[in-house]
Amino acid sequence: MTANNKTHDNLVADWKANAEKHDDDNYWFLRSLKQKSGKKVDRIALELHQEAFSIVDCMKCANCCRTLRPIVTEEDIARIAGHLGMARDEFVAAYLERDEEQDRYLSTMNHASNAVVCPAVFYLVEQMRKRMKR
Ligand code: SF4
Repeated sequence: MTANNKTHDNLVADWKANAEKHDDDNYWFLRSLKQKSGKKVDRIALELHQEAFSIVDCMKCANCCRTLRPIVTEEDIARIAGHLGMARDEFVAAYLERDEEQDRYLSTMNHASNAVVCPAVFYLVEQMRKRMKR
């Protein structure tokens, strides 16, 4: 439990209930930060980044892996296919898409904005809004 009484589960529940609702406000808030002192914003962002990831457990969340299209290296393919007990080519056919121009593999999922995808980013932005009002 943190100073905010946040746990992984209640932070994720808050994120699910509010991330899309606050998306426009968060967009305009983040744009407004360009008018503020860069040093102050950077200091608060670093503190909140550490705080957010001390609450959220990425191994329990895994939302970015499900909703973004991360680049998957040959080393990743060998490791993940081995973990799943699949042959390399079977894993590639089931879960990856080849980007011929960039010569890389992408996970076959969609993209969305950061605070909507990541509960830690949502927490950081919401807390930043509170702190910048002080
Ligand atoms: S979406 Fe954010 S909190 Fe969830 S696993 Fe990815 S980085 Fe971690």
